[in-house]
Parts: sequence; C-alpha cells; structure tokens
Amino acid sequence: MSQNTKPDPTRAVHALSIDVEDYFHVAAMAKVVKPADWDAMPSRVEANTEALLQLFERKGVKATFFVLGWVAERYPQLIRRLADHGHEIASHGYSHQLIYNQTRDVFTEETRRSKALLEDIVQQPVTGYRAASYSITHRSLWALDVLTELGFTWDSSIFPIRHDNYGIPGSPREPYLLQAANGQTLREFPLTTAQIMGLSIPAAGGGYFRQFPYPVFRQLFRQASQGDSVPQMFYLHPWEIDPDQPRFDAASWFSRFRHYTNLDRCYARLERLLDDFQFDTVSNSYRQYQPADTVFFASELGRAV
Ligand SMILES: [Zn+2]
Repeated sequence: MSQNTKPDPTRAVHALSIDVEDYFHVAAMAKVVKPADWDAMPSRVEANTEALLQLFERKGVKATFFVLGWVAERYPQLIRRLADHGHEIASHGYSHQLIYNQTRDVFTEETRRSKALLEDIVQQPVTGYRAASYSITHRSLWALDVLTELGFTWDSSIFPIRHDNYGIPGSPREPYLLQAANGQTLREFPLTTAQIMGLSIPAAGGGYFRQFPYPVFRQLFRQASQGDSVPQMFYLHPWEIDPDQPRFDAASWFSRFRHYTNLDRCYARLERLLDDFQFDTVSNSYRQYQPADTVFFASELGRAV
C-alpha cells in the first residue's frame, strides 16, 4: 500500500511478490540452457530487480522478494539493498530445480544452504519459501516437512489449479493454515485463481499477467478477491519487464510464447496494477487477513476433487 495515502480498510491488502531469478533460470528454458551454462550467460537480474525497486519506491509499496540462492551468492549487495528499503526477503531455493524431481536429501541440503545464505546477507531470520515453478504437488508434499524442520513458518508454493507442471487442484484458494505430515504447521498463501463458469483460471501474475489484456487480468484478480475483499497473491519475475533480454531461438514455440509475450508492455501494466489495488509484503498481507483457525492437512489437500 502507498506510504503517502492511508490504506482503505474496506479493501483487501494483496501480497506483492517477486521471484528474483534471471531469464535463463526459468523451467521453460531448461531444455536449451543447462545450469552448467548459467555462469557464462550475460546476467540481467541485478538491473531488472533494481528497476522494480525504483518503481516500488515511487509507488510507496513494499513487496516480498523470493530470492534464488544462485542470485544471492552473486549479488549480495542487491539483496541487502532490498532489505534496507524495507522489503521482505524470502527464499526461492538454491538451484531452481523442480522439487518433485529431487531427492529429499538434495532438497534439504540446498534449501538449508539458500536460507543460510540469505540470513547471512540480511542478518535476520528468513522464514518464507516459494518453490521453483510451484513444484510442491501431491508428489512432493514431503517438502513441507523439510521446510518446517529448517525453520520456515510460511510458504507460497501451492497453485490450486490443474496444470502440466504444477498445482494441487481443489486446494484452498484463500490463505490458510497447513499441517505437514510431521504435525508442524505452515501459513500457506496460495497463488491466485479466479472461478469462471466452474473453471479455475490462473490470475496470479507472470505469463498470465502478460498474455491477458490488462482489463481482463484486473477483472480476474478482482473476481478472485471476491470484489477486492479477500487478499490475493500477485507474482512477477524481474526478466518480465525486460524486452531487451537475449532470446533463446532454440526453445520450442510454446516456451517462447510463454516467455516472450508482451515483455515490452509489462512494466506499464504493473504500474496500473499498483494503482488499481492495495499491496504489501506477503507477511503483512497475511497478518491483516487473519484467516480462519481451520487447519488443512497436507495429505488431504484437494482430495475431495
Ligand atoms: Zn522461479
């Protein structure tokens, strides 16, 4: 929400989140650029994240930055600047691999490493997590146990939708308390979906934000929030405001469509979104909402569907 104008208490305070990774980290490009190639790629994450920081300063809004460990290691001063400006720092894991393709040991080790890395930089506890490509699904619910064991208290990795690569269809669409198999509880802030004629339509940001005309996206986001009364989760990547990024011509047509559509319009759309809705960090948004005490069990998520 703006620092200059008082928040309107009759409207929801939505969660504004940025997944801090570079254009070559995305899963859609995994077939054409391997982790071993990352260090040789011209990095653009620092300048793009800086541009978002400037925009948020101008709009007087705070966000949560889910930082990839790979980025934090190379640009610690960037992460420190985000924290110094009052933004929330959370973890986006270390290597951007899909959790359901990892072993529990590998996931535990790299998540521990990325958390420690961020805490070392910002000198405060990092308690929030978002999985690469929302890869906490029925196949990787064990990751929730690991997160609680490592000291995370909240998560934003579960997309209540049916998709080829992610999602738990039928899981709650509003912030909720989630109990892992080990009995520990996390606050879960799911990714936004709108309900249109019985279908769940993703309306959380990213590619959907770029592909739909802005008024359509705004309508979906408003519908999901039940007339701007229930807080929703918006996300974007720094590379999505960068039309000049190097292009991967070898990627499939579909991957290129997902990645490159409307990059040149995204920044202006984000400005409009920040004017049209109230936003704050994930933790502040969750706190102001105060969800019901009902606890959902991880093993039962979406099972009724
Ligand atoms: Zn990511």
